[in-house]
Amino acid sequence: MKFDDLGLAEPLLRAVREEGYSEPTPIQQQAIPHLLEGKDLLGCAQTGTGKTAAFALPILQRLRSGAEKRRTIRALVLSPTRELAAQINESFATYGRHTKLRTTVVYGGVKSRPQAQALKKGVDILVATPGRLLDLHGQGRIDFSHLEVFVLDEADRMLDMGFIDDIRRIVRLIPAQRQTLLFSATMPSSIQSLADSILTDPVDVRIAVQAPAAETVDQKLYLVEARDKLALLHHLLKDESVTRALVFMRTRHAADRVERHLQYSDIQAEAIHSDKPQKVRERTLANFKAGRTRVLVASDIASRGLDVDDVSHVINYDMPHEAEAYVHRIGRTGRAGATGVAMSFCSVDERVHLEAIEKLLRRPIPPVHEHPFRSAMAQLPAARPAARGWNKIPVSRRLRTHAGLRGR
Ligand code: AMP
Repeated sequence: MKFDDLGLAEPLLRAVREEGYSEPTPIQQQAIPHLLEGKDLLGCAQTGTGKTAAFALPILQRLRSGAEKRRTIRALVLSPTRELAAQINESFATYGRHTKLRTTVVYGGVKSRPQAQALKKGVDILVATPGRLLDLHGQGRIDFSHLEVFVLDEADRMLDMGFIDDIRRIVRLIPAQRQTLLFSATMPSSIQSLADSILTDPVDVRIAVQAPAAETVDQKLYLVEARDKLALLHHLLKDESVTRALVFMRTRHAADRVERHLQYSDIQAEAIHSDKPQKVRERTLANFKAGRTRVLVASDIASRGLDVDDVSHVINYDMPHEAEAYVHRIGRTGRAGATGVAMSFCSVDERVHLEAIEKLLRRPIPPVHEHPFRSAMAQLPAARPAARGWNKIPVSRRLRTHAGLRGR
């Protein structure tokens, strides 16, 4: 299927061509025609599937006709994090560059005045995080009376972050007659009931979590004691082929610690997480994108939706606790046909997470045996590796199996 077949207007097709997209992704193929008809949508899809264009293009098309009139907010996109909100805003600007529509973004952690001024000038599309949106609305700076389209992005993350009351409040403020889109990476019952309460006869689009193609991401497992992880990271970063590395950490505190350690060793590294002031986060991300920082140490919430090209290596300093997060994290490398390397550090107490990830991938992550910080676990005698039924074998035995591959 081609973009030309989706029913999109020429100015949007031109923007898509300029971005170098040759064909629509599955979610774009499945969602765009329905959205152009004005239908509600329940989308189960993650960042990285092309979901932003899947909702941005039909919204731009719908609003295009009225772009010349007085500007009022006609589309609202809610996002859980500032980074994701900023990226969605950029995407609207990119895909809408040949239209006259205006987009802006509002989020907390920065002064609200410039945002209020941008709103005063008039916008067609508003991207927002819930708290700041409600603040600005409380100050009488937002008029929802002309709203036509409402998008709730990463709804599961919103609920995890405790935004449910804010979302319900926002839903009460916007017109009942509207087109509503809800995207979520997972569909627990809490999301299903939220969907039932805000969507009308929605089209259901589910894009399965795709295990990344082995050809573009070279996945490696490092069995290592927790206390040796920092030394292993140092060791791996000595390799000059690691040109732009994204290191994922579970906690903000650990991210700061690793940032400091790397900086002491003259490795250009910066941490990004939600405790840092917004200005600092923006600068950090810009430094990384521009190649001024070689290593970005990120906590999960801040990293979700990070869209940086040419990441040579993703390093999972901690094994993610959700298997989907692994797929999501390693998808930050090997993008757009480039090759990338994903290295995961697994300590003994993280093996349960490793098991869940390998189950999702339906294959083991190949272990690296020749590294100086191999965990004592990896020294244990071998069992034969099992190609089939791997997931049925207890993790402890599989770890030994990994070790047994050494030297073969
Ligand atoms: P998203 O899931 O919206 O965060 O998109 C993930 C990445 O895919 C972004 O870098 C987009 O620029 C890119 N992208 C979106 N649609 C396409 C497409 N049809 N072809 C190639 N890349 C795309």
